[in-house]
Parts: sequence; C-alpha cells; structure tokens
Amino acid sequence: MNTQLNLQHSGGMLLDVKHIQKTFPRGDGNELLVLDDVNLSLKSGEIVGLLGRSGSGKSTLLRLIAGLADPTGGNINYLGKAIDGPAAGISMVFQSFALFPWLTVYENVTLGLEALELPRDEIRRRSLAAIDLIGLDGFESAYPRELSGGMRQRVGVARAIVVHPNILLMDEPFSALDVLTAETLRTDFLDLWSEGKMPIKGVVLVTHNIEEAVQMCDRILVFATNPGRIVSSIEVTIPRPRDRLDPAFAAMVERIYVEMTAKPGRGSTPRFERVLGSGIDTFLPHVSTNLISGLIETVAAAPFLGKADLPEIASELSLEIDDLFPVVETLQMMRLADVEGGDLRLTQEGMAFADSAVDERKRMFSRLLLTHVPLAAHIRRILDERTSHSAPKSRFLDELEDHMSPASAEETLRAIISWARYAEAFAYDDAATSFSLENPA
Ligand code: ADP
Ligand code: MG
Repeated sequence: MNTQLNLQHSGGMLLDVKHIQKTFPRGDGNELLVLDDVNLSLKSGEIVGLLGRSGSGKSTLLRLIAGLADPTGGNINYLGKAIDGPAAGISMVFQSFALFPWLTVYENVTLGLEALELPRDEIRRRSLAAIDLIGLDGFESAYPRELSGGMRQRVGVARAIVVHPNILLMDEPFSALDVLTAETLRTDFLDLWSEGKMPIKGVVLVTHNIEEAVQMCDRILVFATNPGRIVSSIEVTIPRPRDRLDPAFAAMVERIYVEMTAKPGRGSTPRFERVLGSGIDTFLPHVSTNLISGLIETVAAAPFLGKADLPEIASELSLEIDDLFPVVETLQMMRLADVEGGDLRLTQEGMAFADSAVDERKRMFSRLLLTHVPLAAHIRRILDERTSHSAPKSRFLDELEDHMSPASAEETLRAIISWARYAEAFAYDDAATSFSLENPA
C-alpha cells in the first residue's frame, strides 16, 4: 500500500474511530458493556491521549485499533480503509515491555521487521538505526534481564518504531517505571518527536496520569468508566517543550481534575457514577480505612484547613488518579467531603472525624457506613434478622454478580468487609467465608 498517497487522499487523517462499542460475554450469560459509542480521530502530526482510570476500557480500545480484537459495533478506519486484523502501519508499545527474555536487544528489535520480508542488510540497517535513535547504542547484544526497566522500555519503543509505522499505539508505556526514569523517557521521546526524528506519523497514548497527558498530548480524550466512553476532548495548546512549572501547565492539569470529578449536572453525562450510584448493586472500590483517615487528616490540617485542590493533594500524598479518585469518591459517598470545581472540601462530619479519637471515629464511620452505603445496610439488616446472625459471603456475591463482573463483585465485598471491620459494624470470618454479628456491640 502506498502510504503517502493514501495519507493525501485521507486529508492527513490517519485513524478514524466511529461509534465503537465493545461487549464481553459474562458468566451469567449477559454481556458486559466495556466501550460505548467511542469516537476518535488521529491526524498526521498529532499525539492524542486517552486519559482514564483503570478499567475504563483504554487497553480494550487500543487492542481494537491494533486489530487484535473486533468491535461489537461501529467501525475503525485506518487511512480510509476498515481495519480487519493487525495492520502493517500500526505498532504498539506495551506497559509490560513484552520483550522475549531469550532474545538479545538486537534480536528483539529485528523481530518487529520479520513480517515485512526486507533484505537482510536493510533489516540490519533499520534495526541499528532504531536502537541508536532510542539511546540503546552499545546494548545490542544485551539480554532484557541485564537491562534496567527504563532500558527495557526503550527496547519496547525501538521494536515498535523499527517498522516505521504510521501510528504508534502506546499503552501506559511509562507507568511501570520509577518517576525519574519515566520522566527521562518521556522527555527523550518528545524531543525526538518534536525534532521529526521519529519514523512515525501519529501517536495514541493511553495513560492514567494527568500530568503525563498534559505534557505529551496535543489533544486529550477523557474517559469515564462503566461503560468506557469519552466525556470530553481537551486541546492542549501549550508550546513545546512544556514545563510543569509553567502556570498554563498547572491550569490545564487543574482543569482536567475538574472535568474528571465534575458531578453530573442535569442532562449531562455522568462521569464516574459507578461509586456514587445508589443501590446495593453499586461497585465499591477497595479503599483502605488508613487511606480514608490519612486523606481526611491531611485536608483538615494546615495548610489546607478543610479545603484542598485535588492536584495539590495528589502531589502531597504522591497519589495517582487511580488511587486518589476512589478514595475521594468514597469520602463523597460517606458525606465526609464534597468535591466542587476540582476542590475537595471536608463536610462538618469530615472535620469532626479529623478531630476525633479512634473510638469516636469508628462510631462515626459505622453510622455513615450504615446510612450511606446501601450494601452495608443490606448485609447488616440480614444479619440482624437471622436468628444465627450470620450469612455466607456467597449469598451476597451472587446478588452482586447479577449486576457486575465477578472481579468487581469480589472487590466490592472486600471493600465492605474492611470498612465494616474498622467500623465494627459487623464481622467477617475469612476461614468460614461468612458474615456475622460476633464482634459488634
Ligand atoms: P483499562 O485499560 O482502561 O484499565 P481495560 O480495557 O483493560 O481497561 O478493561 C476494561 C474492562 O473490560 C474491565 O472491566 C475488564 O475487566 C474488561 N475486560 C477487558 N478484557 C476483557 C476480556 N477479554 N474479557 C472480559 N472482560 C474484559
Ligand atoms: Mg489498560
């Protein structure tokens, strides 16, 4: 296929994803809707980010674009043609690097070229060029186990770009690396991209890191969960190279926090409604009571004194959104805090909690749990009603699995168990896998 020609014909449009739906079969015979009406486009010269929390369907979407799975509905056009199966001009960089441990750096990289059936010296030339470009010169004969995480991911990038793909798909490529290594790799990648040295035309970057999205992307598509869908598209016009200390950078980060925590207004699409639902069938994230108390204490204390900016809390506590948002939602659900305009504000109860000693905190938490978390109230009521004052976990697991995946049901019960234990609202026996009223007064 003549890429240049097709690119011209497609008006610089590399990728056009329209009304994508993806469901997976569930154990109970129903379908799990993972992606709902997802639209996105990628033009030549663009880095487009998919920003969303764990479980919002980002990897699933990348797999569909890579031709590794089929959508249930909608279509994906690459250079104006429908994708069916892996396309030659689309490569992927994985979070886990996905290198072959028994192959050297050089062999791992040339592997990307095998399908192209190029002459041997061309394979060699291109592989060495990719290795050199990405800063692995001198490591050609090293094995992955001899390399640091950062170097391994450089191999991952070299292997993906060695085919000179039009589109590079990157699935949380820096999230398995320590903070400094990740920053170095990002900067190196962006330098090569800005200098036009990357043999690629466009990038789709999946991330759950807001700062990373702002640093790297021309456009950020914010994903909501359950089902995964795009709730906003944000242009990032800050000139490159971008400086995190630039007020425009901080303002953009702040704006995205606001977008991602906005309460659904009337007529608008709910954002992260899954925790804030109202029935016993609501998914609950397994947030530890230590984290809950820790966050409340931090926000109650100086300099915040009850109200804090979410980006500031995230950096103060070194929390990524996958850790921060579930605890923030738990506080909202328990009415310990409100979120508005990207600020977390403790309620009177939240301030009182911060001021209380352990025993009083437990009593408060028990009351809030049984008032505001329907599943907790439901379990407690059943335990109260039964003469044995006990009930097997499987009973509740079955109920939850009518509404969510087995993994989510399991996590929801784990959350309830740890909160109820802390609050001494009811007990759970791990060996007998049953709930009871043994300990509570
Ligand atoms: P993300 O990359 O945003 O963390 P994923 O795309 O990995 O999200 O997963 C989205 C949802 O789809 C999750 O609930 C996950 O359990 C589910 N899922 C992903 N792949 C499959 C599969 N092959 N079968 C069933 N469910 C799946
Ligand atoms: Mg993923």
